[in-house]
Amino acid sequence: MDKRDYYEVLGVSKNASADEIKKAYRQLAKKYHPDLHPGDKECEEKLKEANEAYEVLSDPDKKAKYDQFGHAAFDQTAGGAGYGGFSGDFGGFSGGFEDLFSSFFGGGFGTRRGASRNQPVRGDDLKIYVDLTIEEAAFGCTREFTVTRNVKCDQCDGTGSKSRTRTSCKTCNGTGTQRRVTNTLLGQMVREMPCETCSGNGYTISDPCGACAGKGIVRKAIKETADFPKGINEGQSLKKSGKGNAGINGGANGDLYVSVRLKKHPVFTREGNDIFQSIFLTYPQAVIGTTVKIKGLDGDIDLKIPEGTQNGKKFRVTGKGVPVLNSKNMRGDMVCEVNIVIPTRLNEAQKDILRKFDEATDNILKTDEPADPKKGSGLFGRKKK
Ligand SMILES: [Zn+2]
Ligand SMILES: [Zn+2]
Repeated sequence: MDKRDYYEVLGVSKNASADEIKKAYRQLAKKYHPDLHPGDKECEEKLKEANEAYEVLSDPDKKAKYDQFGHAAFDQTAGGAGYGGFSGDFGGFSGGFEDLFSSFFGGGFGTRRGASRNQPVRGDDLKIYVDLTIEEAAFGCTREFTVTRNVKCDQCDGTGSKSRTRTSCKTCNGTGTQRRVTNTLLGQMVREMPCETCSGNGYTISDPCGACAGKGIVRKAIKETADFPKGINEGQSLKKSGKGNAGINGGANGDLYVSVRLKKHPVFTREGNDIFQSIFLTYPQAVIGTTVKIKGLDGDIDLKIPEGTQNGKKFRVTGKGVPVLNSKNMRGDMVCEVNIVIPTRLNEAQKDILRKFDEATDNILKTDEPADPKKGSGLFGRKKK
């Protein structure tokens, strides 16, 4: 696998802006355009390579993953992405060369490497983000959401015609393309242009459907549901086959990718299948030891604080983290980091108690542990007396 670096492919630096990346790609796409190099396999490969690089670097999510993991980020066998039934974030693009090319040029560029434009074209894949709480992602949930996508017009059954009849275009004999000889800097070239009579459709319609203006396709907001399995995490997607944009000319529908984003939680943060939280203890609790109730993902947890617990100490409660995706009973851990709270507004009586305590334990640092000059001389300062 000696794949070239995507930045190198596009000839831009790692710090290139989105505009620079787009510009570099456009230049390459023009340079290796199949019309200029008919049948040239090397140019085709070069264009494929550029398309692939652009597909990743133009998408902020994919670019971030690529910057972090390189090509391994997209290699399903490398362990990063594929979770059994789930496509990772990168299963989304499957249209290949033709689709990317046509979507980039909006189809208006007029050339599909000699293929006529009335051939079936698969619909675009769509991606939608759904925000879940840490608990919802941990234990799974069902979500309803609305996605706006291109669907076949049901008034005309996708034909674009009221009477559902398309007449084959006489100008191009239904191919959708016309051959034209043009003089260019590179000499005479035979170009296949979209047919002017039928706009490259290969057919004409005499009674356009009013609902879709003769396109055969309408935009529609459609309710969908997604069942998120327990353990799903930020950035992972559910694939709903055929729920992307409708195909054209009888092409298959694209797919819909429902991608998870985790909402910020007031207490928890998630790393992999472990949950982290800060717990707050008073000085006496940490010194003497106690049992505290802490918030768990599914109910409170009794956490034993041993005598002499230090600030910053982390306690790991095994099996109280997030259920592992696609596993039966495995769960990550709950990690609790101790924060000893120093009171800021004590009254005189309370301060007196602390002063007495300080006097009573005057030698505590010397007797309990070797003195560490870097740490200072004591918890409450020892200037007076
Ligand atoms: Zn035509
Ligand atoms: Zn219609």
